[in-house]
Amino acid sequence: MPTFKDRSVALKQLPDFDLVLFGGTGDLAMRKLLPALFRRFLAGQFPSHARIMGVARSKIDREQYVAQVEQSCRKYIPAGLDAARWTEFSRTLDYTPVDASNAGDFATLASKLSKQSAEVRVFFLSMAPALFQMTCANLAASNLVTAGTRVVLEKPLGQDRVSAEQINKSVGAIFSEPQIYRIDHYLGKEAVQNLLALRFGNSLFEPLWGRGRISHVQITVAEELGVEGRGAFYDQTGAMRDMVQNHMLQLLCIMAMEPPVSNHPDAVRDEKLKVLRALRPLEGNEVANNVVRGQYRAGAAKGAPVVGYLEEKGIPADSTTETFVAIKAQIDTWRWAGVPFYLRTGKRLQEQMADIVVNFEDVPHSLFERSSSAGPNRLVISLQPHDSITLTILAKNPGETMRLRPVDLRLDMDASVKTPQLDAYERLLTDVIKGNLTLFMRRDELDAAWRWVDPIREAWAQSDERPKGYTAGTWGPAASSSLIVRDGYAWHGEL
Ligand code: NAP
Repeated sequence: MPTFKDRSVALKQLPDFDLVLFGGTGDLAMRKLLPALFRRFLAGQFPSHARIMGVARSKIDREQYVAQVEQSCRKYIPAGLDAARWTEFSRTLDYTPVDASNAGDFATLASKLSKQSAEVRVFFLSMAPALFQMTCANLAASNLVTAGTRVVLEKPLGQDRVSAEQINKSVGAIFSEPQIYRIDHYLGKEAVQNLLALRFGNSLFEPLWGRGRISHVQITVAEELGVEGRGAFYDQTGAMRDMVQNHMLQLLCIMAMEPPVSNHPDAVRDEKLKVLRALRPLEGNEVANNVVRGQYRAGAAKGAPVVGYLEEKGIPADSTTETFVAIKAQIDTWRWAGVPFYLRTGKRLQEQMADIVVNFEDVPHSLFERSSSAGPNRLVISLQPHDSITLTILAKNPGETMRLRPVDLRLDMDASVKTPQLDAYERLLTDVIKGNLTLFMRRDELDAAWRWVDPIREAWAQSDERPKGYTAGTWGPAASSSLIVRDGYAWHGEL
């Protein structure tokens, strides 16, 4: 009979794995993926046979690679590095120079992997998506794709539905759908999983979750940063493709989906897909009425002056790429008919924050006097900068008169949970190794998201209008406020 301790260890431990990190010297690998793996190692989750193989074109050797990873972990793990633990971890690291587009380079990788083949083999493609097709074909041609192999694809998965389909088709020719893990790191955030827990682990909210009880929902993902030296990349992408098509629509799905029949990955993904398919299409004039696109002008960030988007390095002077989007979306289902979902995201906004704000209907008849700030009940699920859930209710102001004021019931996850939380990539990487697809996007979800986004971008392409300007350090163009004010609401935080 296993002891409690034995069982907890058995639950935590990952199966033996080989993780091949294409783009292993890049920014994402160094800043997020390798520090995340090191943290899981420190947490005792690594099995006795774990191998992390960095792969890129650079002709460096193993020692040089390990030194690079160490430097990065020192930088991105604020608690500091325990020398002994680092040495243990570094034994799992290896490096092989491979040009993903050169079939001949895969032989060395194949011979290294065959020496000690683990049950689970993961190819994490942390490179430009233009290399995905070639990489997968070369992996297959080198007989590197085993039954226990998984492939992880980083965003952006396409520029539109057609290009996304091309990627899916070429990867799908080598890997079956259950072997493909499409990452949206927002789904790895603890707060997003808490939203699932809140909705489907409690009976309290379900009767209130829909039309008649909720007046409207707001989803905001605001960045204070500008394009940060990645101007050329960003100008080809824009806020719609960078944030809305993936992260924001995924948040909307988790917020709006019906209870899945189980927590099986496909049960969850089936429900998310239904939400995407129920999004009312925005085409032609509907776009001008329901979507605001903006571009930041010179202004301020953190109290210092900053240049406008068109003055950033690598941005053409006549660029019409949007750095801000606000959308009024409608979900045509029984649950959500007539309940608008307002989405808003942008760069160089007033603060760095992300939240989902559920605004409930007001009482049908108000008996009491209210303070000016007292509005209907509100539930705020905050993802950034702090992971918290706040329910605002009205309570009596102390004193003689019966006057109501808002009071927050707040659950601060950082302060209330003693166990350190997993960073999104820690969660997602361990899920890939464990084979849990729940937090990864299925091919049909991706397709449905592009189907909704493409016509909006097409309407912009056909319009002569430039994106609306907004001063860096504000909450976006005035038209974004009008979009919601005309319905009698206001953006949370802009009140
Ligand atoms: P990056 O810093 O430019 O790194 C690219 C990596 O790919 C480097 O290791 C590079 O090394 C390698 N590489 C390039 N061409 C290669 C080839 N032909 N064969 C093998 N390796 C090759 O890019 P990144 O920022 O890490 O981003 C990687 C991917 O993740 C991109 O698709 C990006 O859009 C996505 N992403 C990044 C972030 C982020 O925060 N950085 C966030 C979300 C998604 P060599 O030059 O030595 O080959």
